[in-house]
Amino acid sequence: MSDTRRTKVLIIGSGPAGYTAGVYASRAMLEPILVQGIEPGGQLTTTTEVENWPGDTEVQGPDLMVRMEAHAKAMGTEIIGDIITSLDLDTRPYKAHGDSGTVYEADAIILATGARAKWLGLPSEEKFKGFGVSACATCDGFFYRNQEIVVVGGGNTAVEEALFLTNFASKVTLIHRRDELRAEKILQDRLFKNPKIEMLWDHGLEEVTGTENPLGVEGVRVRNVKTGEVTEIPAKGVFIAIGHAPANELVKDKLETHMGGYVVTKPDSTETSIPGVFAAGDLTDHKYRQAVTSAGMGCMAALEAERWLAEQDLDEGKDETEPLGYGAPVEPAAE
Ligand code: FAD
Ligand code: NAP
Repeated sequence: MSDTRRTKVLIIGSGPAGYTAGVYASRAMLEPILVQGIEPGGQLTTTTEVENWPGDTEVQGPDLMVRMEAHAKAMGTEIIGDIITSLDLDTRPYKAHGDSGTVYEADAIILATGARAKWLGLPSEEKFKGFGVSACATCDGFFYRNQEIVVVGGGNTAVEEALFLTNFASKVTLIHRRDELRAEKILQDRLFKNPKIEMLWDHGLEEVTGTENPLGVEGVRVRNVKTGEVTEIPAKGVFIAIGHAPANELVKDKLETHMGGYVVTKPDSTETSIPGVFAAGDLTDHKYRQAVTSAGMGCMAALEAERWLAEQDLDEGKDETEPLGYGAPVEPAAE
């Protein structure tokens, strides 16, 4: 059944950016609605230990996100389990169409749809997705107890996934296309000390190989990028960890994007090219992509939405003879 919900501020996304925006918008008495999307809690729900969230020396990603949700709710954010399928930003109030059939009408929108795992784009990767090929070690690692696994990538995610997978696997081979990792040094130290992990430098994944019936992975074919030599590595699980791309589907034709699809915001701001539409977190951030920076941008977006809405109220109720803006005009000082 279709239903219409009206709100001053609609927050789309339930990662650190969305929930923090919820906390701030609620405390500004804007009674925000937050739509969670397909991954309630966002990317941190796909990891285990988080060691760089201020105030927690170590916290489990899913636990942190449950706490953030509870915090936003306690402050007054209405949290809804729905997915926004399209946005109408041509007329105000803006409209967001939910997969449930609900239409959300909003004076201001905070986009916090984050990012999603990238894939290599190989036909064999596609074929074995869900049958041995995965992009989430915490979700699927358990299936590979005492098996050999390969991980592809050289950033923080790849190293963390390789380390995590040693809890299950008999051996983990980390395949990287260069001869040095991009991951933080502390993670590299842990990686190189782990006896279950073998590094395969300067190699690219060419093909995932396996059985047809039942569909299942048996190994990978890799090529040395310097010599061209091809090698086969046995593996039951293949984890692709080559980074994330911004989840910009709702706005890629409506807002300016750059650096591979990240939504452009004004300098030092979360304002986009459409007034009243703000963007925060990994959707806009090609540089830092951290939970704490996303939360910071969620805060900025809510504060900016609050100010923007206040300006709209002033404009709507203004006496045309009065100057625009906050407060009374300043009288010239007496001589
Ligand atoms: P995300 O967390 O990506 O959340 C996006 C939200 O948008 C999701 O809730 C999704 O459901 C929702 N959404 C998307 N599309 C729609 C739609 N159409 N309608 C409604 N909702 C929608 N960072 C750290 O600081 N420390 C770490 O230790 C760390 N570990 C990580 C480990 C892994 C495996 C990964 C993948 C990332 C890690 N990061 C870490 C990075 C961190 O998770 C991200 O920077 C952060 O989650 C980004 O927050 P966000 O709110 O922008 O978006
Ligand atoms: P990333 O930092 O962008 O690293 C992606 C890695 O994959 C790079 O090493 C890259 O190689 C490689 N790669 C990219 N495309 C490839 C391809 N087509 N074929 C083979 N290899 C390819 O991504 P990430 O590791 O997912 O991290 C994303 C963000 O989340 C980062 O900002 C990261 O700091 C953050 N994060 C933080 C933590 C933490 O704080 N503990 C944990 C996880 C993620 P090159 O190095 O050659 O470019």
